[in-house]
Amino acid sequence: MTAPLIDPFARPITYLRVSVTDRCDFRCVYCMAENMTFLPKADLLSLEELDRMCSAFVRLGVEKLRITGGEPLVRKGIMTFFHAMTRHLDSGALKELTLTTNGSQLRRFARELADCGVRRINVSLDTLDARKFADITRWGRLPQVLDGIAAAKEAGLRVKINAVALKGFNEDEQFSITEWCAREGHDLTWIEVMPMGDLGNEDRLDQYWNLKDLRARYGERYTLTDLAERTGGPARYVRLEETGQKIGFITPLTHNFCESCNRVRLTCTGELYMCLGQEDMADLRAPLRASPDDAELDQAIRAAISRKPKGHDFDYSRQKVQGQVSRHMSHTGG
Ligand code: SAM
Ligand code: SF4
Repeated sequence: MTAPLIDPFARPITYLRVSVTDRCDFRCVYCMAENMTFLPKADLLSLEELDRMCSAFVRLGVEKLRITGGEPLVRKGIMTFFHAMTRHLDSGALKELTLTTNGSQLRRFARELADCGVRRINVSLDTLDARKFADITRWGRLPQVLDGIAAAKEAGLRVKINAVALKGFNEDEQFSITEWCAREGHDLTWIEVMPMGDLGNEDRLDQYWNLKDLRARYGERYTLTDLAERTGGPARYVRLEETGQKIGFITPLTHNFCESCNRVRLTCTGELYMCLGQEDMADLRAPLRASPDDAELDQAIRAAISRKPKGHDFDYSRQKVQGQVSRHMSHTGG
């Protein structure tokens, strides 16, 4: 038996998030600059290398794989990779294969994703107003995304909507988005905006909308029940009793969720980040490319996990963005 991955704080690592590309067909203002320089193709892990990398993690005990980006569905040939991961679902080693997407390519891929064993997906959507959607994503078009979400539903995929809570942007849509999700049967999670990267266009403090406010506003309209459910991540859930809806809150800045952290993040170039909020990473591409045998890779993965820090240092509390990390969300995949 292979020993499972356990970090220095006795947390089993069972969840891997993999960014398969740094590219995207949108340019969300909180995520990317308008003129991004993307990585040269040679730096990216090939689809075969992504397969080897993910398979190594699955062999070492990872049970949940989330594919992200950039926009994962714009990576050329990505369906080949999804089809390949199906074997780990079939063997029972992998319990869940899922992805986070902006939804733009779902009309094309939803059915095939379902065929690959994907059951649930996260779709990022911050507004239901077409003009505001075009503003926040710069290059995105709302009807295409809504059609993609409809395609996912038709294919039998469960959809969770992730909305970044932005002051002065979607505050006025809290209830309309919630009601739309209730009608469509989608779960909904609100995400606090994080100080990622230097985008030079927005002051993150101006946009910061504390999710405590958001929760309190729900409380004025609905009866809230806290749910004990934990995912090992920064999400906390409540149920709106009147609609039966489950609403999530991802508050990486105001909540201490690190003690139950079960995840690590792999970038499209094979860097493993042990914590979203820290700069430390391990290069896994070199050991992967050094030998067709996985022994060196396994050893590098274990060495990386042994360095997983206790927690992150994000802090807005002193009205100054502290603990800001320099890379963009599209690099580590959120
Ligand atoms: N392109 C895909 C998408 O948008 O779902 C996957 C990658 S995207 C980087 C993953 C998630 O990160 C999205 O839900 C996005 O809203 C979120 N995100 C990006 N930048 C963020 C920031 N500065 N603060 C909080 N969430 C952010
Ligand atoms: Fe692209 Fe997702 Fe970043 Fe928006 S949040 S620019 S869709 S990677």
